[in-house]
Amino acid sequence: MHDWDLPWEGGCRCGKVRFRVTVPPLVTMACHCKGCQRMSASAFSLSAAIPSEGFDLTLGEPVIGGLHGETNHYFCPWCMSWMFTRLPGMDWFVNLRASLLDDTRWYAPFIETSTAEKLPWAATGAPHSYEGFPPLDAYEGLIEEYGRLGPARR
Ligand SMILES: [Zn+2]
Ligand SMILES: [Zn+2]
Repeated sequence: MHDWDLPWEGGCRCGKVRFRVTVPPLVTMACHCKGCQRMSASAFSLSAAIPSEGFDLTLGEPVIGGLHGETNHYFCPWCMSWMFTRLPGMDWFVNLRASLLDDTRWYAPFIETSTAEKLPWAATGAPHSYEGFPPLDAYEGLIEEYGRLGPARR
């Protein structure tokens, strides 16, 4: 019913690290937090939560960057593009930087987070908006709704 057109390929700015996605995202997000503004050098970060079994590196070896803290932010070791994030205790999904995909036509953020920190003009069109992050018990319903609606492509 949904036209996800998997698998998807993507990579960093220089192409030395490449990846493949074979499973649809659980949900997509734009984050307005100051940390994402700094790390993306932009108004907000864009991501897609990909189940770990559907995410494979096909070229190169990313390195840890960002805060080097509990949350692991992976970067290309050559061009330093921020590529994906793994959260402690949540290794069942990878938070992939969605703009690194070769084809982003399907992509739209479904949730936007940390709007309390957003730049005054920044707007993403996400149907679900949170000043901080969604309460933990909201994710199940959000993921269910996103899966039902499918890709926002073309
Ligand atoms: Zn690179
Ligand atoms: Zn953020």
